[in-house]
Amino acid sequence: MALLGALVCCLLVAWHGRPGLGLPLAPGGSPGPAPAMGQFWHVTDLHLDPTYHITDDHTKVCASSKGANASNPGPFGDVLCDSPYHLILSAFDFIKSSGQEASFMIWTGDSPPHVPVHELSTDKVIDVIANMTTTIRSVFPNLQVFPALGNHDYWPQVNLISTSKSV
Ligand SMILES: [Zn+2]
Repeated sequence: MALLGALVCCLLVAWHGRPGLGLPLAPGGSPGPAPAMGQFWHVTDLHLDPTYHITDDHTKVCASSKGANASNPGPFGDVLCDSPYHLILSAFDFIKSSGQEASFMIWTGDSPPHVPVHELSTDKVIDVIANMTTTIRSVFPNLQVFPALGNHDYWPQVNLISTSKSV
């Protein structure tokens, strides 16, 4: 559920044909034409957990809890679990019904769940990414999407050389 905050953010961006974001470089200088303003959606770290389901045994709610007790599983997930599909659809529905006019979407990957390496495979990772791709294309058929791969979008996951902690 903490992912929801990171899942959807609308960023205001200014772009212009020259450096400085279209802002005048010096006070009193000629400001030139007004900068073009626009908005885009940034969707990241969906981390779909296809195993998520509500059950009385809270150690078996989701594979991403790695056997830990889910604290309060509901239709939109649990803090110890990655995202159920219902949560992701809810976030996309929010984007679509928000009334925000976006020029495009940046989708920075990390679609598979945080589970041990032996619980995934290349085929499972591809299935999750294909599922998210189909979902995004069906919910936003007219929005241009720029995808990028995250460190969980291949198998074995988190195999990049890095000095920072995996997220
Ligand atoms: Zn991630």
